[in-house]
Amino acid sequence: MTTIRAQCPTCGDVRMTSADVTVRICSDDDSGSYWFRCPACVGPVSRAASPRVVELLVSSGVRIEMWRAPAELDEPHYGPPLTFDDLLEFHELLATDDWRDDLSRSCHPSMESERRRRAADADWQGHG
Ligand SMILES: [Zn+2]
Repeated sequence: MTTIRAQCPTCGDVRMTSADVTVRICSDDDSGSYWFRCPACVGPVSRAASPRVVELLVSSGVRIEMWRAPAELDEPHYGPPLTFDDLLEFHELLATDDWRDDLSRSCHPSMESERRRRAADADWQGHG
């Protein structure tokens, strides 16, 4: 098994075997990276890798994982990005007992009217 030398941001130069390293290739843009768990501090380390470094690692017996960017990245996004205040407000909302109803009303007013319409339909069918 090949010995591989890499850099941990905390520990500096570390040595491990090819079995301890994983190359990751993004199939969306063919960008490469590699990751390992530092043998000294056990922290995860991830680094970008040029095609040349990927080739060297793979020829040394390092396993390859292919991955795709999450489909959510292609979804349209509306409104401003979330802020820390938004997160805090959401956290406080979740601490209330009726957070589901509050959230449904504030996010999807049309869903609330749809829910009321369905409830009314169910009532009508129940009494018919
Ligand atoms: Zn380390």
